[in-house]
Amino acid sequence: MHIDVITIFPDYLAPLDLSLSGKAQGAGVLEVTVHDLRQWTRNRHRTVDDTPYGGGAGMVMRPEPWGEALDALVPLGGSSPPTMLVPTPTGRPLTQSLAEELAQVTRLLIACGRYEGIDARVVEHARSRMPVLEVSIGDYVVTGGEVAALVIIEAVVRLLPGFMGNPGSLDEESHGTGEGQGLLEYPTYTKPVTWRGLDVPAVLLSGHHAQVTRWRREQSLRRTARVRPDLLATYDVASLDPRDREVLAEEGWPGS
Ligand code: SAM
Repeated sequence: MHIDVITIFPDYLAPLDLSLSGKAQGAGVLEVTVHDLRQWTRNRHRTVDDTPYGGGAGMVMRPEPWGEALDALVPLGGSSPPTMLVPTPTGRPLTQSLAEELAQVTRLLIACGRYEGIDARVVEHARSRMPVLEVSIGDYVVTGGEVAALVIIEAVVRLLPGFMGNPGSLDEESHGTGEGQGLLEYPTYTKPVTWRGLDVPAVLLSGHHAQVTRWRREQSLRRTARVRPDLLATYDVASLDPRDREVLAEEGWPGS
């Protein structure tokens, strides 16, 4: 997968050179190119923002540098344009299933807004040239699109074939979309067996695979009922067995 990121703070994307995404870049699974939007400005101070029409607080990113950036990175008439992602709190919520959709795309272009956002005509224009998706990382507002770009990239690229050392790590994860998924993951433990007076649950040391699986499922159900009952509201209740229902009843879940 190739990802172009356009930003006025290229250094903000430096963490992509670390950890697994750094390794993935080395291994050719992922290529990231970060572009400074200011290279496409034509004024002496390289400003990219201006006051909003209609009045109000804050500044808005002017469309011209964005237009030039798109001309340079997505030439008109070029073959296979990227999918453009525009992080914004007004966008489609980023979920695991959206991350899975995006992991199928071979080229992404992420446009990082700042200030009050980008002049709305940029998205309108870009839609005439390539698929465009406005994406929100959650119901809160951060200062700029760079941190949202990092979140989106991290969620998407770990799903690429060859990214994870052990692809089994993706099984049974919170927010998974496969069969039997939709619950939060169970608690996890490692060595030592006892730490500061706290023991690892005995069942995990038993070597009894079926009991471990059952314990983990119950922990997932309890955690989801306590922390994210909204997820259970859309859970496939037909997949709940009698013991699952008992566990959920103990947690006070009304649908059990
Ligand atoms: N005025 C905008 C609004 O109320 O919708 C918020 C602008 S925010 C201060 C500046 C930039 O941060 C946005 O253009 C976007 O790139 C990014 N941003 C902020 N919150 C975001 C979120 N929840 N999801 C994705 N991007 C976000």
